[in-house]
Amino acid sequence: MSQTPCIFCKIVAGEIPARKVFEDDDVLVFHDIHPQASMHLLMIPKRHVENLYDADETHSAVLGKMMTIAGKIAHEQGSPDGFRLVANNGRVGRQEVYHLHFHLLGGTEPLGSGMNRH
Ligand code: AMP
Ligand code: ZN
Repeated sequence: MSQTPCIFCKIVAGEIPARKVFEDDDVLVFHDIHPQASMHLLMIPKRHVENLYDADETHSAVLGKMMTIAGKIAHEQGSPDGFRLVANNGRVGRQEVYHLHFHLLGGTEPLGSGMNRH
């Protein structure tokens, strides 16, 4: 756990609410509070890590799990025909919340073609 208050750690701890769609011992998936697409979910490891710069071999299992379940969750949450998976890292990546997360963006119509942001 980070020393600084982390909003996503607070969601994991149940201290602030979130619209959860999937949870197990290691991973939490919930709706983004400011959706940028008709499906916009955030997938996080429950154990705090700032971003992919700080990921090491101790994160391999949870990162693998997240990649493995992303498609099933996207399908179940209204994206049966494709979705986008985005991780913003650090200043240049315009990361706003420094707890590693993947954006799952989709819906039934094609997303914007730009790779900027999500
Ligand atoms: P970024 O760090 O730039 O990849 O984006 C952080 C994302 O977290 C943004 O899309 C926010 O809308 C989202 N966000 C921030 N606070 C919350 C919250 N309390 N619940 C759900 N999503 C949030
Ligand atoms: Zn955190």
